[in-house]
Amino acid sequence: MNDILLLKLGEIVLKGLNRRSFEQKLVGNVRRRLLGLGNFRVSCMQSTIYVEPEDDTADMDAAFEAMQDVFGIVKISRAAACEKDRDAIVRLAVDYLKEDMLRAKSFKVESKRSDKRFPMTSIQLSQYVGGELAEAFPNCAVDVHDPELVVNIEIRDLAAYVHAAPVDGAGGMPVGCNGIAVSLLSGGIDSPVSTYMIAKRGVRLIPVHFFSFPYTSQQAKEKVIELGRILTAYCGSMTLEVVPFTHIQEEIRDKCPEEFFTLIMRRFMMRIASSIAERTGARAIVTGENLGQVASQTMEAMAVTQAVTALPVLQPLIGMDKEEIVRAARKIGTFDTSILPYEDCCTVFTPRHPKTRPHTEEIERAEAALDVDALVREALDGIEQIRL
Ligand code: ATP
Ligand code: MG
Repeated sequence: MNDILLLKLGEIVLKGLNRRSFEQKLVGNVRRRLLGLGNFRVSCMQSTIYVEPEDDTADMDAAFEAMQDVFGIVKISRAAACEKDRDAIVRLAVDYLKEDMLRAKSFKVESKRSDKRFPMTSIQLSQYVGGELAEAFPNCAVDVHDPELVVNIEIRDLAAYVHAAPVDGAGGMPVGCNGIAVSLLSGGIDSPVSTYMIAKRGVRLIPVHFFSFPYTSQQAKEKVIELGRILTAYCGSMTLEVVPFTHIQEEIRDKCPEEFFTLIMRRFMMRIASSIAERTGARAIVTGENLGQVASQTMEAMAVTQAVTALPVLQPLIGMDKEEIVRAARKIGTFDTSILPYEDCCTVFTPRHPKTRPHTEEIERAEAALDVDALVREALDGIEQIRL
């Protein structure tokens, strides 16, 4: 008999009629996340997903870690198993929960019985095990109203399970239940965090990187691929679209006023992202912009940038402090890669005095020197897709 994992579903429980399809999405995401970790059986019942090892190949430690990154799960418990006998359950609980029981001042037992052949009702079983535990741990009193520790017992087909003190899951909603968006992924600190945050709202993401070889190096591209790989733990597998951006940047440098370089470049990013969205069924563009952080992130500059797309531009970091973003980047594991010192296309040809309060009409006049459509088409034709 083996341990199992119990995953408590979050917000999706509230979603009424959609609940079934959300649960199925989440079960699918959990199964995909377990690939490579051995053979597991995954099933869903009463807002709980059960992950049970099918044979000895199942790496339960790795699975327990992996499940903590899956959006849509709020709590994760690792449960120990025993035969379906009330005294075996007591023995297991005394042994398995010893440290928790010694630490807590009060507890209660909650039982669930999916195997209705078990000879006691849930209430009878809870009372019996509760009484025995109270005797074994005199430091810890029964309190059914506001207990410090909840001891859970589950009677399932194959075995009985005991668990308590769950760890927090990643929260959010299952990736894929809220549509698709294109996410602009630079090699910086911000955009991996914005990608994570929108994935957390249940959105499947298509990362897009603008690459200006040889102004930005092959290592800069490897860095973005690595960031994308780290993000797959949360976002599921993704296909990175690497857009050749060199020609566009050179054209802007040669033909447009320097103070508009960054803005015109960003408008090209938006146009190309919109075309990728159309091809892939995405309904929004995600960026790591943050109000006032740099010249291109004033309200006026963002209006100019966004004027070329009809899609909503999602900017989950817009109101955060840099420190908060850094903390988030550390938590999700992208920070150390993000600070590797390679150039980004935004830092190539940076204007000395960028315009911070631009007007769309003046940018449009400056862009008239370029064959915008042809440049966009050329970039789209040169896209390299990398499966992460
Ligand atoms: P980051 O840390 O994400 O690079 P940033 O603070 O450096 O952000 P900018 O360089 O102005 O800000 O870029 C703003 C946003 O534009 C980024 O968060 C990202 O979403 C997008 N972006 C910038 N450069 C690129 C690029 N080379 N490829 C794809 N997206 C980019
Ligand atoms: Mg950047």
